[in-house]
Amino acid sequence: MAYRWPAGTAFTRMVLDVEDRSCPVCDRYMHVCDHRYHHLWTLVGPTQVVNHLVRCPDPSCESRGRTFSPATELSLSMPRWCMGWDVFCWLGQRRFARHWSVPQLRAELQDGHQITLSDDAIAHYVGLYQTMLAARQQDPARLADDYRDIAGLVLTIDGLQPEKGHETFYVVRELMRKRVWFAEPLLSSATQEVRRLIVLARQWAERLGTPVRGWMSDKQDAFVTAIAAEFPGTPHRYCQNHFLRDVAQPVLELDSRAKVKMRSKVRGLRAIERRVLEDRRPTAAPEPPPLHETPNTAAVHAPASCPSRALGLVRPDSALEATGLAAVGDPGVADEAGEVVLGYCAAVRGILNDSRGGPLHPPGLRMSEALQDVRDSLDRNVQAQKGGVQSRW
Ligand SMILES: [Zn+2]
Repeated sequence: MAYRWPAGTAFTRMVLDVEDRSCPVCDRYMHVCDHRYHHLWTLVGPTQVVNHLVRCPDPSCESRGRTFSPATELSLSMPRWCMGWDVFCWLGQRRFARHWSVPQLRAELQDGHQITLSDDAIAHYVGLYQTMLAARQQDPARLADDYRDIAGLVLTIDGLQPEKGHETFYVVRELMRKRVWFAEPLLSSATQEVRRLIVLARQWAERLGTPVRGWMSDKQDAFVTAIAAEFPGTPHRYCQNHFLRDVAQPVLELDSRAKVKMRSKVRGLRAIERRVLEDRRPTAAPEPPPLHETPNTAAVHAPASCPSRALGLVRPDSALEATGLAAVGDPGVADEAGEVVLGYCAAVRGILNDSRGGPLHPPGLRMSEALQDVRDSLDRNVQAQKGGVQSRW
């Protein structure tokens, strides 16, 4: 990839010589016949590497016509790259270990190291890094080294579909070392296709000379038959997550319905926020704006055993009345009260939009617990307000 250097770039010069100047054929001292220039971004700045190329001076030598270049060049960078290994590793480590995005990498290279690279260039080098990483991960010698102390393997296979309609990406992992062994996109989940991957896994295990203690996957037919065929007698367990999900299905359906119900009860956040913001406007009329909603749309009913006092979550009327009263004397305090109301609104919105959770922590249950926390917090505030008679709060 050709790289266009910014005009006026000041390079630090680095001259490399061939380590052994004697001709490999006739042992004569070889002469410099040419130079090769390589311009690189390194973490210490733009660098111009000057390679002294040499050849044998004897026209009758068998090495005639051969040019020798310094081997150290490859310890700085690869041919035609625009960056040294240091920048390359900097990029790859941040991309794959810390999951930085390409624009983030570009900005940090620019700000932190004054290195100017385009998104395209960074994506290209990240791709090269990935290729090297994959090769290293699959290197048999390294793998054997990694598995020296492992007495038995536990393998898994699963298909991932990044987006609907895309081909499925099948990943074979080993659980004792928590390593991805290999992954392949398959156009179909036909048994033949899948079986090829299981065969490959068997070959890897045989090469390691380590027995496979078990397999784990979901109950996809292709997995079940291929594993049974290639690993006769090896226990095959079904994935705990899939298993739990299936067992929990009726509970999750109920949970989902409860969630819908909670969401339909906790409404009107936008109207409350709008009222706070309207009160804040300096040009707004001093009297409180008309009610935008009926109180019950703003009331939260947390399920189960919550105290049924009307003091519960969100009595926007009282909060806003307090705001209005305070606004007459002290706009700073009014703003603070509005800020509290907006803070609660943001918290409740976050709770309503959170859909995380699995079979063991159903999302609806999480939502109910979180809403109860908000309700308790509001209760505490209302109680504190009642106690402090002299205070506006
Ligand atoms: Zn020679």
